[in-house]
Amino acid sequence: MPEYSLSKSTFIRGLQCYKSLYLNKFRPYLRDKISEEQLAKFARGHAVGKIAQQLFPGGVALLRPGNASAEKTAQLISEGCPVIYEACFIADNVIVALDILVKQGARYHAYEVKSSLALSDVYYNDAFLQYHILNGSGLKPEKFFLVHRNADVALDETADLREMFVFTDVTAQCELNESKVHDNILAMADVLKRDKSPDIQPGAHCMKPYPCDFRGVCWKKISKEEQQKLIEGVG
Ligand code: SF4
Repeated sequence: MPEYSLSKSTFIRGLQCYKSLYLNKFRPYLRDKISEEQLAKFARGHAVGKIAQQLFPGGVALLRPGNASAEKTAQLISEGCPVIYEACFIADNVIVALDILVKQGARYHAYEVKSSLALSDVYYNDAFLQYHILNGSGLKPEKFFLVHRNADVALDETADLREMFVFTDVTAQCELNESKVHDNILAMADVLKRDKSPDIQPGAHCMKPYPCDFRGVCWKKISKEEQQKLIEGVG
């Protein structure tokens, strides 16, 4: 099995800040405590993902991303499995777990589900990475869809499942971004080979797209006033 040093979440972290990528790998104990709000967000995302699986019922679910899941995914695909949840792939030094993989004729369609009501750059970057890794592992998806919640329809048992979600075909953008993703992976791998963390000063990037969880250490040396400005996006 190929080795990997990056995942979907660490890749997204690296796009935000190389220092965060480095600290996450070598000083994880410096991370700020996860807030109740973030925990609730994770739980919400998980619940929406489970509901979305019913868009393509009867699939085989893989448990935890890792070599065993990647091997099992490859086996299921070779057997022509029609639907796989959390299909795992490793290529180009990265491991990813795709929410839903669905066989369509001789090819597969990939679906990445988001619990939010709209798509953001982060979700696109997530799709670009996954497409690249699936492709690199030998399964070029015919289509790649980002799926997010329809703001006009509540998530409840009485609503039509298809109406609850919005499907966006991002295959063309994925194709266009393949080499950029590869270059980013190389740059991040390089960061992780360094013997000390990159010298990156706090700035607006600490809050976008996500509030970084190393602010507790990084922001120690900047004033409360400065911190407030960064939080309010005026720094
Ligand atoms: S707090 Fe800011 S500078 Fe420090 S690791 Fe996070 S994003 Fe990078």
